[in-house]
Amino acid sequence: MNPLFDTANARAFTHEKKNVPAGRKAKPLFMCPYCGRRLTLTSWGNAYRCGQAAISNIAGCKTIHVDKKLLESTVLSCTRTMAGRVSAEAGRKKKEEAKTTVIEEKIRMLEAEEKRLSSRKLRLYEDYRSDRMTKEQYRREYDNTAGRISEIEKAIPELRDEAARIREQVLHMKEREAELEGLLALESFDKDKLLTVIESVLVYSEERIEIIWKMDDGFFREAAGEKEVSALQ
Ligand SMILES: [Zn+2]
Repeated sequence: MNPLFDTANARAFTHEKKNVPAGRKAKPLFMCPYCGRRLTLTSWGNAYRCGQAAISNIAGCKTIHVDKKLLESTVLSCTRTMAGRVSAEAGRKKKEEAKTTVIEEKIRMLEAEEKRLSSRKLRLYEDYRSDRMTKEQYRREYDNTAGRISEIEKAIPELRDEAARIREQVLHMKEREAELEGLLALESFDKDKLLTVIESVLVYSEERIEIIWKMDDGFFREAAGEKEVSALQ
């Protein structure tokens, strides 16, 4: 028992918001690719620009000026598309659960075979001792039997690992499905919800944004790769 580990572990598998200390800004979604700082809204509130443009001394920072509605709706629709792809992938993965039944059946057969072979190995020696078998025959039979046993002993743990891996993936998929459905149904820009699957969005211009998907669970990585480059639409 390690209570500290258990608590940390329990937290690692939920998407509950961590408490942000008062005075600290919430995690940003839109980032300036030139200086790495957050984008802020213009005084009109209808466009994003680099919050450091006036002071960063980086030429690129000054060039960023993108329409708020366009940026938010593009990121929203990219996320919905991605959630759709991931959800389809999750459906396929869930079907793999049936494979574990086949694997378990195979394990049972191998275990039975191993049992048969082990008693055969004992009988071989008896047969040899009582001259029902030549030394040559005995050696050959013994090597074959022992070889097959060690094959089985190697195969069983591999099969068990494979079944465990599939079951774990399926469980993980099921846990994530509700969240994916929430994203698929998302109708308006919701930064906190998007931040559950997006690490950050690098905004170069209205022609180029890069969405960096969160890599903590591999789903989005499998369906999309680490990042997605789009133009605002
Ligand atoms: Zn900047």
